[in-house]
Amino acid sequence: MSDRRTTAVLARTGLDALVQALRARGRTVVGPTVRDGAVVLAELSSAEELPFGWGTRVEAGRYRLVRRADGAAFAHTAGPQSWKTFLHPGREKLWDADRTADGQLSVTEAPRAHISYAFLGVRPCDLRAVAVQDRVLAGGRYRDRGYQERRTGALLIAAECTEPGATCFCVSMGGGPGADAGFDLALTEVVDEAGHRFLVRAGSDAGDELLAEVPHRPADPETKAVARGAVDAARERMGRAMPPVDLRTLLGDSLEADRWDDVAARCLTCGNCTMVCPTCFCTTTEEVTDLTGDHAERWQRWDSCFDLDFSHLHGGPVRASARSRYRQWLTHKLSTWYEQFGSSGCVGCGRCVTWCPVGIDITEEAAALHDELAARLRQDGQRGRGARGVRDVRYERKEPER
Ligand code: SF4
Ligand code: SF4
Repeated sequence: MSDRRTTAVLARTGLDALVQALRARGRTVVGPTVRDGAVVLAELSSAEELPFGWGTRVEAGRYRLVRRADGAAFAHTAGPQSWKTFLHPGREKLWDADRTADGQLSVTEAPRAHISYAFLGVRPCDLRAVAVQDRVLAGGRYRDRGYQERRTGALLIAAECTEPGATCFCVSMGGGPGADAGFDLALTEVVDEAGHRFLVRAGSDAGDELLAEVPHRPADPETKAVARGAVDAARERMGRAMPPVDLRTLLGDSLEADRWDDVAARCLTCGNCTMVCPTCFCTTTEEVTDLTGDHAERWQRWDSCFDLDFSHLHGGPVRASARSRYRQWLTHKLSTWYEQFGSSGCVGCGRCVTWCPVGIDITEEAAALHDELAARLRQDGQRGRGARGVRDVRYERKEPER
């Protein structure tokens, strides 16, 4: 592994050279593109399919595409999909079972397509989300082989954020609009009087090798300074923030909060928040047979803790109410995830806020829980016992090297 990584400048046209170099290596390039009124992730055959000149306007429960005069390609916020759509697909066959001539059953593992992905335009929050899913699906005792194979072969090209949306709050989750780890290449888009270009940093040997194949020039101090300034400015323009408290303890101390009734009265338990969340990983399995009864298949598909059947045990669901299901989701995301996987389950991408049909906002709910807990502690005069839940914490901000 090299300890001296390349930093360079790519012209706008260099982006297509990058896509073509990846395709020439047999990689399936996936990146953002405009489709059906949203920026979605899809296979790209050319960089021209990127959303040049499109931005987004988001709010709780709202998402709109807007035109941008500067022609930037990566000035949009997270869309309805994340990279788990490709690494941990919503539906995947696990095995086939066929009745043989002697009446026995023959079970064969479903073949997996060996796709070598290159993800172009991965946001720093999503780099962290991929790392979270790595720990869940490839790092523990129960590994998902399909995820592991796809992830091992995937190349990640990050696009640092210079235009955070109104629902973004990565900074208050300890991340940031800059990419600091987990990428092969990191791009920072710059559009100014000196032209449309990308500062590009290699983060791995594979990134260095790829960059060597693409026309580029050495990084000049001005481009570096403008790129750094744009990311620093984005850090100060986050649309939202989590309350600056120890969320893990706050949730742990809020199991009986009245706020759960308030949010349950609004929540449709539709599960949208879990579908769009880049870290949610839950699946269920289902069997299907053909009409002859000689062939059966087992499929794995995404599931949601908002589904009534999700906690169904003998006799009925454990979490029958919307209150208990929303509480489970939020408490797992912000608190018990640490015990299972050693980190928060939220990276602050804002998707669940944007794509909730009734605009339920995870930061607002956490703030309301904090207010309720603080009021309860004041009322009870038990600051000593509960003070852990409301104390201020400092968020660690890592500045990427450029
Ligand atoms: S919080 Fe919003 S997106 Fe999530 S289940 Fe409730 S209504 Fe659906
Ligand atoms: S909980 Fe919401 S903000 Fe956090 S990672 Fe999931 S979708 Fe993004």
